[in-house]
Amino acid sequence: MSEKGRIRRGIVFVLSAPSGTGKTTLTRRLLRRVPGIRFSVSCTTRSPRPGERDGADYHFVSPSRFACLRKRGEFLEHAEVDGAAYGTSRRRLERHLERGEDVLLDIDTQGAAQVRRRMRGSVLVFLLPPGPVALRRRLQRRGTDPAVLARRLGLALREITRCGRYDYLVLNDRLERACRDLEAIIRAERSRTRRQRGEATAIQQMFRAEARRSAPGNRRSDP
Ligand code: ADP
Ligand code: 5GP
Repeated sequence: MSEKGRIRRGIVFVLSAPSGTGKTTLTRRLLRRVPGIRFSVSCTTRSPRPGERDGADYHFVSPSRFACLRKRGEFLEHAEVDGAAYGTSRRRLERHLERGEDVLLDIDTQGAAQVRRRMRGSVLVFLLPPGPVALRRRLQRRGTDPAVLARRLGLALREITRCGRYDYLVLNDRLERACRDLEAIIRAERSRTRRQRGEATAIQQMFRAEARRSAPGNRRSDP
């Protein structure tokens, strides 16, 4: 929604969950459905999985390039997960927010805590898997290597114990329902009074002007 001639700043939505819960699947579905929201493409030093595209899923960079970007302060947040580095570009994110686009960040709990501190008004959503059996099955279905699978299941417990720090919890048992819950959160956050002040003021001003025009003595038909 826009104020008179001014675009409202976009909202940062953070989505965290243990690897394999369904963040990528859910995000793709959500972005097809909800207008005005973009996916933040992170930088990572890990190798692409089959089907992942550079620039769309991640910006795949070398460890030395990542270190250089970090030293230059290019990252709003960054963290190491399972031996690889991940980070969110501050400049790209700002560009979207200034254009009034909301942005969805798929990042881990360490990164989410940094975003919370640095971006006032950010909204943190944690996606819960139904349980360890379902999570294992999902990771296996994605073709995860057994050694990686064991590590990621270990990390899952640590991530889940941090879910109480988030603004919203969404259970991903059924994908469609989880998508609808996430969509409802985005729409509700967009409707918050403090985010709509400019629009509300513009409408109040129109009503005041109309009241002045139609006040006795100001009406055209008045003698
Ligand atoms: P993440 O991005 O969180 O690591 P993915 O989106 O890659 O997870 O999902 C991991 C696997 O789980 C994929 O095979 C995906 O199809 C499957 N999946 C996602 N959500 C559900 C769900 N609600 N029920 C069953 N399988 C799911
Ligand atoms: P994966 O390797 O499975 O794609 O991601 C592993 C973990 O890294 C996930 O929890 C994912 O949310 C997280 N991640 C992806 N991008 C970023 C990022 O830019 N910053 C942080 N902190 N975590 C990220």
